[in-house]
Amino acid sequence: MKKKTSNKSTAIALACGIAFGLAGFCMAAPFRTVPWNGHVGAVSFTFDDAYETQFLNLKPLLDAMPDVHVTFFLTGFQDRLTKNAEGFAALANSGNEIGNHTLSHWRLPEETDDELEVEITDFADTIEAALAKYGADVNIVSFATPGCENGENIKKVIQKRHMINRDCGFDGRNKWDVEPDWMSLKAKIWSRTDVTVNEMLNALDTAAFIGTFNNTNPLEPQITEGTWLVVLQHDVSERTIDYLSINPDDIKRLFERAVKNKLWIAPLGTVAAYQRAHFIIENATMDKIDNGYSVKWKIPHERMPKSVPLRIQIDTTRVSSKTTLEQDGKKLTPESDGSYIIEFMSQSLIMRNTGNIPLPKAKPKKAIASYSKFTLYDLRGKKLGATNGFSVPKDYPKGIYIIRAEAEKLPAITKKVAK
Ligand SMILES: [Zn+2]
Repeated sequence: MKKKTSNKSTAIALACGIAFGLAGFCMAAPFRTVPWNGHVGAVSFTFDDAYETQFLNLKPLLDAMPDVHVTFFLTGFQDRLTKNAEGFAALANSGNEIGNHTLSHWRLPEETDDELEVEITDFADTIEAALAKYGADVNIVSFATPGCENGENIKKVIQKRHMINRDCGFDGRNKWDVEPDWMSLKAKIWSRTDVTVNEMLNALDTAAFIGTFNNTNPLEPQITEGTWLVVLQHDVSERTIDYLSINPDDIKRLFERAVKNKLWIAPLGTVAAYQRAHFIIENATMDKIDNGYSVKWKIPHERMPKSVPLRIQIDTTRVSSKTTLEQDGKKLTPESDGSYIIEFMSQSLIMRNTGNIPLPKAKPKKAIASYSKFTLYDLRGKKLGATNGFSVPKDYPKGIYIIRAEAEKLPAITKKVAK
């Protein structure tokens, strides 16, 4: 952990050297992002394949639960985008996210570069246009691979148009301080055949860090904090013929458990943007301006949500507790817990009343082990007495001597010395 911090400060120092030169004032801004927007953990429910059941059966549930917002990954397979655009536009307008799941839902590794462009890049624009016809202002930032088939070449195409891609697999849990592969985020997959509702409920408890985890097999990943759980769903109906369908009653139970566990229940793109911002803002640099400091940062991807409200705490061990923040010309009001919600997409803010900010302390020099005992000998090895360093005391006659240096933690050395 210590090593990571020192790498971080080196990176900042380098960036500052380039950006401001040695004369400028430059150090990391005294902020800490509040994990998971102030919740102990987060969950993103994602629904693939543009099923009609997702607005027929799911929308009434979502409308009744104002704290639950989810993501729908749409595809043009079987003309579903056109047929269901109105229903998904309504879901978008009630605060849910719309993502891209390709035009044809074909296997991406089998496609040529040109086909990938059409499936991935062009289709994102197609979805936005299709939903705009029904009054939804959709900004696609999230992608999900069909069948979770991904690859380095595919990632490159996704990355050009989306800031996150969801794949499948593993437990679907992500830690706050570990930056995931944004082009291959893992998700826990629901299926009637492989997963029970109880197992999903347990996963929601684990994400909220509810339970006892200290008896975990030491070879398995240890649960030490709340996490971000990503869940993959498909059809929402009682159809038992499709093993990927989930009963409306069961998904309702999962939503209710997530609410009860006080998880942050937000779309994939929302949580991803928040976490990406966390890795950026804590490396933001500040420099002195009249009556304060200007803090600046860059956005990590050009396809971010239009607004990324970010909850931060000011590090009052570094600046005065009277520090105030201004953004876009307005003074920000702190939340009741003292945190601030800033707009990450504004890429800057001003700090005032910080008090004196001490420059980072120079690292104490490492003590170098040194020789402490020096003894003078003549050339025949006769001990003459103590001396100071590799020099012969003034009262000895001219000639060649031997000096032996000793120290507790160093090998003894001898040198011939002339006087
Ligand atoms: Zn799919």
